[in-house]
Formats: sequence, structure tokens, C-alpha cells
Amino acid sequence: MRVVLLGPPGAGKGTQAQIIAGELGVPAISTGDIFRANVSGQTELGRKAKVFMDAGDLVPDEITVAMVKDRLAEADAAGGFLLDGFPRTISQAEQLRESLTELGHGLDRVLELVVDEEELVRRLSGRRMLVDGQMVQRDDDKPETVRHRLKVYREQTAPLSGFYEDEGLLARIDAIGAVEEVTARALAALGADRAQPSAD
Ligand code: ADP
Repeated sequence: MRVVLLGPPGAGKGTQAQIIAGELGVPAISTGDIFRANVSGQTELGRKAKVFMDAGDLVPDEITVAMVKDRLAEADAAGGFLLDGFPRTISQAEQLRESLTELGHGLDRVLELVVDEEELVRRLSGRRMLVDGQMVQRDDDKPETVRHRLKVYREQTAPLSGFYEDEGLLARIDAIGAVEEVTARALAALGADRAQPSAD
């Protein structure tokens, strides 16, 4: 199955991506994670991306699209994937469609996690991650950067919802609630929920 997970920063995409990908038996591919790994590994790509990430801006398409194309060409993605954090602009979505068409594929579903903005700000400002045994705030989770990321989302990424709706691929789910509840809604929307065991 080829799936895109769409939703604002703080919607829980990373968490859900891992669980859903595990259920579907496909790799979860997160552009944010790939960028962060490159930043900590101090690679050339990481050095270029960091400037944009720290400002809460999108990394330019020419960097991001090339990186995703390389990742999708790896063997483990041949039978399917779950993309988290890509595409984030209409142009990225068009380029993704082109690359998949060249490979003779298309997307099966785009799943949008819906959370209101008040809840997002609350979640992001309280979010911490474990680094070297310590709970630290991500550089781009500082309040002023969070507000900017939400603005970037509204302006550049939210239009993807209409783009994929027009393609007949969009499923929207309420992403407020316990992690397991949201996962259950997601799997149901993907038609991948476990069938109830039959009586006999
Ligand atoms: P979140 O969804 O919480 O904003 P991500 O981990 O998906 O976090 O992304 C973190 C940062 O990485 C983004 O703010 C952006 O700078 C960069 N990034 C991730 N994916 C993309 C993308 N598809 N296009 C451009 N920049 C990206």
C-alpha cells in the first residue's frame, strides 16, 4: 500500500506513522526524521537543511524532492510505503505523482489527521524528546517558531487537502483522543482494520 499521511505539526503524524506502517508492513518514511538525522550527523544535506528548519520554514523543494526520490528508490519501498511529512507543497505533490507514475504506481490513499489549532499549540509547546538520556525541546518547538510553522502549514500545506480530494484519494480522520483510538480510526479509513473474528 502507498500512503501519504497529511496533517499539521503536532497532529501526531510521527507517532501514528510508525504504528500504521507496522500494521501495513511498509516502511514509514519521514522527511523530518531524515533531515534531523542529517543535522546530527553533520552532513552536507543537514547543514543546508538546518537553516530552514530552525526558522520553521520549509526546506527548498529541490533539496527535499531529490532526497525523497532517492529514498523511494530503495528496495524496502518497492512494495509500498507510508510517507510522513511529504509532500508539503502542491509542487512536491505533483513531483511525487510524476515519480510514481514513472515507476508505474500511484498513491492508494492520503490520510489527513485533523486537529484544531488551539490543541496543536498546546501539544507542541509541551513536547519534549529524549536525546542522550535527557528530555529536551526540539529547536523548532519554541513558541515563536511553532506559530510560524503553523502559518507555513496553513499557507503551503493545507491546500494539499483539496488537491488530494480532487484526486479522490483523501480520507480525513479526527486525530484528537488516545493514540490507540486515532490508530483505529486511521486503519478503518485505510480499510486495513482487523476483521472481527467470526463466531465459529
Ligand atoms: P512537524 O510535522 O512537527 O513540523 P517534521 O519533523 O515533519 O515536523 O518537519 C520538521 C522540519 O523539517 C520542517 O519544519 C521543515 O523545515 C523540514 N521538512 C520536513 N519535511 C519537509 C518537506 N516535505 N518539505 C520541506 N521541508 C520539510
